[in-house]
Amino acid sequence: MSQQDFAIGIDIGGGSTKIGLVSSGGEVVERRRIVLGNDEADAIVGQYAHAIRDIAAAHPHARLRGIGIGFPGRIHPDNLSGDLGNIPKLDDFPLAERIGGLFGLPARMENDGTAAGLAEAMFGKDKNARRLLLIAAGTGIGVALTVDGKPFITSGGGLGNAGQLIMHGSDGRPCRQGCVGCLESLASGDALNGIAQRYCDEVPQSPLAIRARDFGREADASDVVVAALEGDPAAKAMLADVGRWLGRGAATWAQIFAPDVILLGGGLSAAGDLLLQPLEREARMCGLDMYLRNVRFSLASLGNDAGMIGAAAQIFLNT
Ligand SMILES: [Zn+2]
Repeated sequence: MSQQDFAIGIDIGGGSTKIGLVSSGGEVVERRRIVLGNDEADAIVGQYAHAIRDIAAAHPHARLRGIGIGFPGRIHPDNLSGDLGNIPKLDDFPLAERIGGLFGLPARMENDGTAAGLAEAMFGKDKNARRLLLIAAGTGIGVALTVDGKPFITSGGGLGNAGQLIMHGSDGRPCRQGCVGCLESLASGDALNGIAQRYCDEVPQSPLAIRARDFGREADASDVVVAALEGDPAAKAMLADVGRWLGRGAATWAQIFAPDVILLGGGLSAAGDLLLQPLEREARMCGLDMYLRNVRFSLASLGNDAGMIGAAAQIFLNT
């Protein structure tokens, strides 16, 4: 076996943090998952460091180039810390600097959506795209662009907050980030949770409502995806509606950033064509043909590991 370089990728999610040993070929060879309680930043560093030591001990011959962090928020210009993340204790905390210092390795922080886009651009099936735009439709909506394999940054470590396109404006609902009537309030996992719950209140005998009751909880976006894949027409209609909203976003982003590939990733992309087809149809119907005709729409290929692989990939790209 030829000797490969490796980097640690840390993907900080809302519920848990994934930490993996990633090869320079994009392969995850070892992984840990950490569920954080209400810990202080120093305790979080301790837990991450413990997992990294554990992983390194399992691969003593791996040549470690550095530690990359994917952070779900805005990234400060030094790529060592961020804010507006979903773990308030880590806001403005020099996480990359602290973890890098503990191991004597280069460390760097990237926005998690940007990291996922970088992973798709370096290792995904569309890695040959010149301008690749990733729509990460999960709890929120992240949008990332890579140009010639490198992240394209406008502000905050990504394309600003491009998931917050204002669609309904003041006639709409607030999103969890605080703007009103934006795309995220209409077409994210968070939005779909609300859509599913309102539908189940109105139609308590629907398969979706019965399914949620069986689990003893309210229906959420993941129930909608599962029900739609099982053929439930109401769930399919909800996804088609979400897809159309995302398609309007995609058309707008295509007109600004001129991608040659638009990938749909994030948790909602588990719905596959049930989401991608209405998205593409609406984008082509609404957007200017001169921007849309050369765009290929596809599902992202690295799934849930994209954030972790991309977090490590920023080390291969920048050190
Ligand atoms: Zn918003």
